[in-house]
Amino acid sequence: MLIDTHCHLDFPDFEAERDAIIERASAAGVTQMVTISTRVKRFDTILAIAEAYRNVFCSVGTHPHNADEELDITTEDLVRLSAHPKVVAIGEAGLDYFYDNAPRDAQAEGLRRHIAAARETGLPLVIHSRSADEDMAEILTEESGKGTFPFLLHCFSSGPELARVGVELGGYVSFSGILTFPKSQEIRDIAKTIPHDRMIVETDAPYLAPKPFRGKRNEPAFVAHTAEVLAETIGVSTEEIAQITTENALRIFSKMPRL
Ligand SMILES: [Zn+2]
Ligand SMILES: [Zn+2]
Repeated sequence: MLIDTHCHLDFPDFEAERDAIIERASAAGVTQMVTISTRVKRFDTILAIAEAYRNVFCSVGTHPHNADEELDITTEDLVRLSAHPKVVAIGEAGLDYFYDNAPRDAQAEGLRRHIAAARETGLPLVIHSRSADEDMAEILTEESGKGTFPFLLHCFSSGPELARVGVELGGYVSFSGILTFPKSQEIRDIAKTIPHDRMIVETDAPYLAPKPFRGKRNEPAFVAHTAEVLAETIGVSTEEIAQITTENALRIFSKMPRL
């Protein structure tokens, strides 16, 4: 039993065979999936997918790539939309200085609004952080000082210092297929330092398929491969990693029912 805490089932990659993909996930032992919002303007589409499947839940939020297009979305909008029973998280929001698709001040402003929504609702904030370790650590520390909020660092690919700060502030760390790549020794070394009660797994499908599917389209069923490498990395069995990450996912995504 595993939970894919981050996938993008609304992407066109999946449109033609969404039923089959969700069935394959169930067959592979993936009990629940969280399909993650990248544009509040597409929220209706995402919510419709979550409503169509008993084991699919969703988030509401604006990806940092789209931050400048959605500066009209307020904290109140996020809070209001998150009231739906299928919405179990805020985000993904954050900072992406690798692509810099949106101006950095717009990304930061969007992030702070999402943090405020997570603080107000108690729903976890799904944080996207790429090549922005220092600014992310600073914003998380500063905002946590104003009042704590639940969060997770999704698709963790940052350095040890951001991992340390995130855990210290009560955050969770989510590992994706990147963990399985041969060149990702640094990420595996960081995984060894994360307390067992703070680690979760995700696919980020359709991106970042784990070994042995690297380069192909990713899908929720493949989360088992990331979990397997995480188990080897921290020295537990595959049964134990399934139990650890599932319990952690249900704790941080506190609104998501156990199925
Ligand atoms: Zn992301
Ligand atoms: Zn994503």
